[in-house]
Amino acid sequence: MAFWKNGLRFSCQRCGRCCCGDPGIVYFNPAEFDRLVEHLNKTRGLTREVIVRDYMRPHLDSYTARDDFPDGHCIFFENGCTVYEVRPSQCRDFPFWRCNLASKADWDETAQMCPGMNQGKLWSADEIQAVASKARL
Ligand code: SF4
Ligand code: SF4
Repeated sequence: MAFWKNGLRFSCQRCGRCCCGDPGIVYFNPAEFDRLVEHLNKTRGLTREVIVRDYMRPHLDSYTARDDFPDGHCIFFENGCTVYEVRPSQCRDFPFWRCNLASKADWDETAQMCPGMNQGKLWSADEIQAVASKARL
């Protein structure tokens, strides 16, 4: 039985640690990228071409947000996520990624980085399963 059968606590503290640090992949699938483009066009007047050129790197069938900065921050991070409404599912689903749910040790290791884990809202096993089953990671 999964160690999270009785649920897990998590409430995001918006500390931004998961948006910075070691370079990684912040993948926007094609539909998510379209939503991002629409949002940045409306809010900042940016065109798809400029977004692709200045904010993204090609990844798989779509794009990952640039994070090639000394502190590894996601290009959309600035005192919090500046594209929160259209952040990709990868960000929405954290920390209920399958890799974090594989064992208590995996969960606890990630919790050392994320202060929102193990406190706040109690997520039921069904709620966790619903997120994890569609999570990319
Ligand atoms: S590290 Fe955890 S608490 Fe901090 S922003 Fe990310 S999910 Fe929220
Ligand atoms: S898109 Fe937003 S939530 Fe996701 S890593 Fe970038 S700044 Fe963080």
